[in-house]
Amino acid sequence: MVRGVVPRQPAKTGRHEGVRVSRSLNKSREITGLPPEQQGQRPGTAKPKKPALGAKYNPLAPERIAEILRRLDQVYPDVTCALTHKSAWELLVATILSAQSTDVNVNRVTPELFRKYPTVADFAALTPEQLEPDVRSTGFFRNKSKSVVGAAKKIVSEFGGQVPDDMERLLTLPGVARKTANVVLGTWFRKADGVVVDTHVTRIARRLELTKNTDAPKIEQDLMKVIPREKWILFAHQLIWHGRKLCFARRPKCVDCALENICHAGDKTWSTVEIHKNAKL
Ligand code: SF4
Repeated sequence: MVRGVVPRQPAKTGRHEGVRVSRSLNKSREITGLPPEQQGQRPGTAKPKKPALGAKYNPLAPERIAEILRRLDQVYPDVTCALTHKSAWELLVATILSAQSTDVNVNRVTPELFRKYPTVADFAALTPEQLEPDVRSTGFFRNKSKSVVGAAKKIVSEFGGQVPDDMERLLTLPGVARKTANVVLGTWFRKADGVVVDTHVTRIARRLELTKNTDAPKIEQDLMKVIPREKWILFAHQLIWHGRKLCFARRPKCVDCALENICHAGDKTWSTVEIHKNAKL
């Protein structure tokens, strides 16, 4: 590069050098949320269809949702939960420990933990204080110890030592809310009872305008309405992986993102489409 010449960055508005989107094409994108090639037109060759009078951009339009799912399938075809586990119990414990922590951090702790205490009954025989040193590095270790030991005691005393495979009973376990229950049901039992909503799913669902809510239960309800049930399990994992790889909380790598031209997030770092300033965390 010639010294002193700094490459131009895209404007936040989506208007920047090198991006030539005609007014009419832009308008058609606003209606469906899709670029012209997704509407059966080659860019710059065919005239986009005139939007029906009064038609507005609908982020929840079925064709836009289908396109998001199609692209996620292309980029993340077979992703799953990154927590190391060999049983429903191990997955339940790992998920409880993963709150406010990272999967990498939890995966450092659990192999030794399950060597030391191989069965649910082993955990049920502990006091929370006895477990604390083993889970300390995952953070919030006092509460997590209490939840894990409490869950083990209940599973042994009320569920015959087996992790329940339905939402209702899972939610009776200490430390288990819908997110943890959905992880166990979806990943281990392959049951789609809901959508896992963690910090990544929350952020990306808002950026993609699939929800306007900020609390997990409402976001889950919103996603369950627009995502087909058979996609609930995979879709959540895809967003979680996307959040780890590109769609970071700060400075997402939009320039490398497969969803870029159908994402109008207000905090994009690169855009070829119009920005919607409320579409962010
Ligand atoms: S374009 Fe940017 S903000 Fe939108 S989904 Fe991709 S990485 Fe996230």
